[in-house]
Amino acid sequence: MSSLASCIFCKIIKGDIPSFKLYESEKVFAFLDINPLSKGHALVIPKHHGEKITDIPDDMLSEILPVVKKLVKATGAENYNVLQNNGRLAHQEVDHVHFHMIPKPNQTEGLSIGWPQQ
Ligand code: ADP
Repeated sequence: MSSLASCIFCKIIKGDIPSFKLYESEKVFAFLDINPLSKGHALVIPKHHGEKITDIPDDMLSEILPVVKKLVKATGAENYNVLQNNGRLAHQEVDHVHFHMIPKPNQTEGLSIGWPQQ
């Protein structure tokens, strides 16, 4: 478990590590995945540091899916995955809650993504 001080996503929120920011509010931050599985692969995270969804306040969690929805609309993707892993056995590598929004590659070809590409 990473602490708040060493958490890379906390550093991204603070601006200490660069990211391609897509959205920010008081409680939620979204940015492009550095190793995208497809064009437009985004991560949406709560600003509160917590490893698993059970560690995140309800009010913050409830703001995340509407942001995922905004990003889906920005890509124009009709097919996409929304993924969220909790714990090593569930393939979580970064110990700060994050939701993946992954447009399906064959659907993003030729689509006008709502933000510049990396
Ligand atoms: P997995 O790597 O199995 O998908 P996670 O669900 O924990 O595990 O996802 C972590 C995600 O964070 C990965 O998709 C990875 O590419 C992304 N990532 C790691 N470091 C950065 C970073 N500095 N900026 C943007 N995305 C990052």
